[in-house]
Amino acid sequence: MQQHAVVIGGGIGGLTTAVALHQQGRPVTVLERAASLAPVGAGIGLAPNSQRALDVIGLGDRVRELAAWQGDGGMRTPSGRWLVRLDAAAVAARFGGALVLLHRAALVDLLVSALPEGTVRTGVTASVADPGDDERPAVVALGDGETIEAGLVVAADGIHSAVRRGLFPDHPGPEYSGFTTWRVVVPAPDRPFAPHETWGRGRLWGTQPLKDGRIYAYAMAVAPAGDRAPDDERAELLRHFGDWHDPIPAILAATSPEGVLRHDVHHLITPLPAFHRGRVALLGDAAHAMEPTLAQGGNQAIEDGIVLAHHAAGRLPPSRALAGYTADRLPRTTDIVRKAARAGRLTTMSSRPGVAVRDVLVAAVSRFGPGLVLRGFDGIADWSPPGATYAADRRDLREQRELRGPQDLRGHDVTK
Ligand SMILES: Cc1cc2nc3c(=O)[nH]c(=O)nc-3n(C[C@H](O)[C@H](O)[C@H](O)COP(=O)(O)OP(=O)(O)OC[C@H]3O[C@@H](n4cnc5c(N)ncnc54)[C@H](O)[C@@H]3O)c2cc1C
Repeated sequence: MQQHAVVIGGGIGGLTTAVALHQQGRPVTVLERAASLAPVGAGIGLAPNSQRALDVIGLGDRVRELAAWQGDGGMRTPSGRWLVRLDAAAVAARFGGALVLLHRAALVDLLVSALPEGTVRTGVTASVADPGDDERPAVVALGDGETIEAGLVVAADGIHSAVRRGLFPDHPGPEYSGFTTWRVVVPAPDRPFAPHETWGRGRLWGTQPLKDGRIYAYAMAVAPAGDRAPDDERAELLRHFGDWHDPIPAILAATSPEGVLRHDVHHLITPLPAFHRGRVALLGDAAHAMEPTLAQGGNQAIEDGIVLAHHAAGRLPPSRALAGYTADRLPRTTDIVRKAARAGRLTTMSSRPGVAVRDVLVAAVSRFGPGLVLRGFDGIADWSPPGATYAADRRDLREQRELRGPQDLRGHDVTK
């Protein structure tokens, strides 16, 4: 499959895939509908699983450098009582690395910096005119009459993916999760605080530090789809969270109405039958949009990109290479979509007795050690990509080469 690859969508998933394919020596074009790559959203949490995936393209350590959480943190009630105490070292020990919170713009810049100039074309709304097959290339239409033939098309066009609708017209598409979200990035409050996630009745607030001295705060609340504040979203946050524990009031005081992002959460709770058709591979939110309750949507998009490039690097015909990609990714992401939905039901629980029982159980479990609380991330955050990575030391690399031959995951000859 060593022909021109076209990536539709310049989000985190599309850009990661483009870097991985470029590093295999494949010509790549990224087509992005927006006029610029300025990402929507504030912060994003990258867990060790996606950091290991980024190691494959040499960017993992650049993300790890941005880790800001040290020491204490955990889960609280709106009055400030701690339900669960966690510390950064225990989390890192369990999953083989720290959780890193970074600004989305920093991640997009990092990915774009690894692509040759001219790879990304913005202001282009692309569609798949022909998905192709083993005998003929796929064809991508650019909306202005121009078409591009491609050996591989990566559909990374997000949760409302038009490519997905075209390839799988019988799939029901995204469903509303029942809750809405707000996000802000503001300067850190004057008084020190421990990173926290606070669970109330049908509402949640999280505060996490960024390396650059600012903080990323996010909130969720049960709400009808499409509901918007009658005045402004900062006022809505004050109504929901203004009387919650420190540092939440201070963060709201530092927030401007224009600085608040609000998004209703939809997810693909019905899995697709496959993540590919012909020479087209779906990836990221286009393939498996999930609730943000495990903070894994972007992490899984990054994993997808690395695994797709791995399968596309071989000499197999597209039908078999992409069937391998579906086989690797569909069961894993389906499982995480369902786990995220279960976590969503727990965090947005609204009934007073239900919340009381939930809080007692969560606090009781945590008394037996942080390991039990973190167990929900087993099999997610401890994932490793297929094959060798830049992070592997030379001895590991030599051992893997002896087992597999002289090609590493990037298709490079590691003997040179
Ligand atoms: C509140 C909230 C918090 C979150 N927090 C986290 C977190 O901490 N960690 C985490 O891992 N994930 C998190 N996520 C999920 C994460 O944001 C997404 O899973 C991730 O951004 C998906 O990336 P993507 O590249 O698949 O899609 P997107 O980022 O949606 O990118 C799709 C791109 O395709 C473009 N596009 C669409 N149609 C076309 C077209 N026809 N032609 C050309 N371009 C097109 C769009 O303009 C867009 O740029 C969160 C989500 C929410 C809502």
